[in-house]
Amino acid sequence: ETTVGVLALQGDVREHLTALRSCGVRAVAVRRPAELAEVHGMVLPGGESTTISRLLDSFGLLDPLRARIRAGMPTYGSCAGLILLADQVLDGRADQHQLGGLDVVVRRNAFGRQVDSFEGELAMAGVPGAPLHAVFIRAPWVESTGAGVEVLARVPDVPAAGPAAGRIVAVRQGAVLATAFHPELTGDARVHRLFCEMVAGGVIAGAASGAGMPVQ
Ligand code: GLN
Repeated sequence: ETTVGVLALQGDVREHLTALRSCGVRAVAVRRPAELAEVHGMVLPGGESTTISRLLDSFGLLDPLRARIRAGMPTYGSCAGLILLADQVLDGRADQHQLGGLDVVVRRNAFGRQVDSFEGELAMAGVPGAPLHAVFIRAPWVESTGAGVEVLARVPDVPAAGPAAGRIVAVRQGAVLATAFHPELTGDARVHRLFCEMVAGGVIAGAASGAGMPVQ
């Protein structure tokens, strides 16, 4: 059975578990390395990235999670999760640990005070149908992307977006998916469905290789 973990140290864990279950996968909270070892993919929720990164360290998950991501485990980060996955963070804190794995530069709290939180409709590549309702809460954006990174969505060019208009807010690099917004808060599970398809693809690849684990 395809099992997807949600990192459950801080942040909106329950909403991700609900969205994943609605896609028909087994979804479990992950707090310990033994729990991480049992999942085929991981979701890193929104929350506070510095806090989550400290907890990752104290729960002994930082290195095991880095290793799984490097080995090709499908991983989806929303908001704080995107920050944790980024190879480089602007306006981050010196004591913030990065998981890395996503060749992007992100800016924390990028929307600034005036547009601290923002909601809008946006089209996302890989998500068929009507535009998504995207909710941004003290969100980062992606300043720049490396060669292997696909841009999946940008902030729509509407007045309410202010200086965020046109900024990159959803990306994919191989098995790593990330959004600056929170699809888990809208009751629309299409982004989670895209991720679950990535996980299912990884499970099949793993079975074919005989490794029993997703391969790169
Ligand atoms: N501002 C938070 C951070 O920097 C992210 C906000 C969120 O996940 N909603 O970690």
